[in-house]
Amino acid sequence: MNLYDAHNHLQDAWLTPHRPRVFADLAAAGVRRVVVNGTCETDWPEVAALAHENSVVLPSYGLHPWDAGNRTSDWQKNLLSHLDAHSSHSSPPSHSLRAGIGEIGLDRWILDRARPDDPRLAGLRRAPVTEQTEVFLWQLALAAERNLPASIHCLDAFGLLHDLLRAAPLPARGFLLHAYNGPAEMVKNFTDLGAYFSFDGAFLAPRHARLRELYAALPADRLLVETDAPAMRLPASLEKFSLPPAADGSAVNHPANLAATYAALAQLRGVSLESLATQVEKNFLRLFAV
Ligand SMILES: [Zn+2]
Repeated sequence: MNLYDAHNHLQDAWLTPHRPRVFADLAAAGVRRVVVNGTCETDWPEVAALAHENSVVLPSYGLHPWDAGNRTSDWQKNLLSHLDAHSSHSSPPSHSLRAGIGEIGLDRWILDRARPDDPRLAGLRRAPVTEQTEVFLWQLALAAERNLPASIHCLDAFGLLHDLLRAAPLPARGFLLHAYNGPAEMVKNFTDLGAYFSFDGAFLAPRHARLRELYAALPADRLLVETDAPAMRLPASLEKFSLPPAADGSAVNHPANLAATYAALAQLRGVSLESLATQVEKNFLRLFAV
């Protein structure tokens, strides 16, 4: 059985001390490819290095809405040079994808609901929605122009996201709404535009019953699975792999917990693990074309 993580951040400093163990565990768990998302100009070189060292890594480069306010004046040039560094390799053949665009998106939560002292947002200038929109649309246009898979983050801005996606050119291959947690009524609208949706292990927490229902009903051909590691831990009782906490005491999600997320999602949808894995493999390869 081949497993695919549609969205994570293996470049994160929380995982750096554990890298050899993490990659060994991923291989042992049957994880064939992982989409590693850069989020800011300073972590793009880390993503590139990981992709160079590990064939399991499919790199993706983007400016995350949390980081949009701290971008340099060279951010577009930097992004293009990371993408072009992958596409200038003489092999593999030209239809094979070397890098995607992401993580990009929109986030009103950091503006309206996040605590002012949230440690994850320390030192970040929180870009207003108009500025986030500008940064998002530039990256989306690039994904459309090059037909690259775009990995999209959205919190508290689904109406705006839908309006923007409806009016913008989109990648012909589709795009990913990672850890989609928007209204169930909007799933059809996004699906019609080419969306895929990735189920995150953190949705297995008791308080996310609404999301489990939503993912149980999603069209099978748009379903993906993700860890968002090292963030978004599964409930501890479901974790098969664990890592020590980060230096600041934060819990760290081991990306090989992807296997447990697949198993739980199969149960939710009332299908065998094998048939879920076969379907998700088809979807992953269709969107990411690796
Ligand atoms: Zn992410």
